[in-house]
Amino acid sequence: MAWKVPLFDLDVGDQEIAAVRQVLESKWISMGEVTQELERRFAQAHGARFGVAVSSCTAALHLALKALDIGPGDEVICPSLTFVATANAALYVGATPVFADIASPDDLTISTTDIRSKITERTRAILVMHYGGFPCDMDAINDVAQQYNCAVVEDAAHAPLTEYKGRKVGVLGEVGCFSFFSNKNMTTAEGGMLLTNNPAIAERVRLLRSHGMTTLSYDRFKGHASSYDVVDLGYNYRMDDLRASLGVAQFDRLPTMNAKRRVLWELYRERLAGVEGVTVPFGAAVEQSGKWLTHPYIFPVVLTYSQDPESVRQRLANSGIQTSVHYPPVHLFQLYQSRFGYRPGDLPITESVASHIISLPFYPSLTGEDVDLVVQTLQRALYD
Ligand SMILES: *Cc1c(COP(=O)(O)O)cnc(C)c1O
Repeated sequence: MAWKVPLFDLDVGDQEIAAVRQVLESKWISMGEVTQELERRFAQAHGARFGVAVSSCTAALHLALKALDIGPGDEVICPSLTFVATANAALYVGATPVFADIASPDDLTISTTDIRSKITERTRAILVMHYGGFPCDMDAINDVAQQYNCAVVEDAAHAPLTEYKGRKVGVLGEVGCFSFFSNKNMTTAEGGMLLTNNPAIAERVRLLRSHGMTTLSYDRFKGHASSYDVVDLGYNYRMDDLRASLGVAQFDRLPTMNAKRRVLWELYRERLAGVEGVTVPFGAAVEQSGKWLTHPYIFPVVLTYSQDPESVRQRLANSGIQTSVHYPPVHLFQLYQSRFGYRPGDLPITESVASHIISLPFYPSLTGEDVDLVVQTLQRALYD
């Protein structure tokens, strides 16, 4: 079906095509200097000492926990209102995910109060997620982490160049993980970036990204090294220069694309202000924009009465408007219920919000007319 207004639309142009072509013509398409350029620029823009480009944010999350030596017997506190990859990272290293509820129906990020109540002597990390590009309450979370001596890892998949109290997210804890999947704020098709200020973590992650090998094929190609040793059990989680070139071109345009997201967020909020039956989360956050500078990744609305969101979504779909749900709670997936014993009722705010939430179309090239059409169609879907 051809959507009148899709959920997401890719924003790539001549700059991206030229960048990819140049790498193709250079004949070196796997990990090399362009990947290094993306790492350098992304890290610098976020105020991080080290950037390590990887094949996905999922890989970054896995390597973050691995580099922190988290493993069997350890607990990782994380939100359930997130993409499953956040929590899966704990499972990859054999740790136990312990889910904390979100703060409120207005603030969909992890609750510091609930983090405190879920801490045990086995808690090794707090893995937070900046939902939709809205920063978690990082000062309070870092206080808890310090008190209980655990690491903070940021899943910043939604939040490149997002600021919390004047600093970029992704460097507010021990490690920050970003996604360059196709529908994220910037893309390399598939890809991710790990940021850290800790040289030991950066070094370990670089090794683990490429089989635990002490030299890279690029160095051997360049004649900088002729042999290698394997010093750790690593993976193939590499980025490549083809993708990195797309990433550099996207990163050049990220401030512009992010600014459009911000304008569209405000426009949606304005148009929805008078619409009864829906609320837009993060109302207070946007007003506090001096403290939080966000460039939202998605546009969620919460239905405020008991209307079935699936039937509302179906009506929107029938009118050509594509929507989504961010997110079905991770703790209620079969894998998590059966392996860890989670049950409905465990996270009341997460479950209540998740069963009333709809993500509306949201991407930089959305027009004002698109927003009006979506809001009018939503109004009809809610009331007819
Ligand atoms: C997209 C996403 C991921 C996974 O990113 P990939 O690059 O696709 O692995 C992880 N966490 C969140 C919150 C995401 O939205």
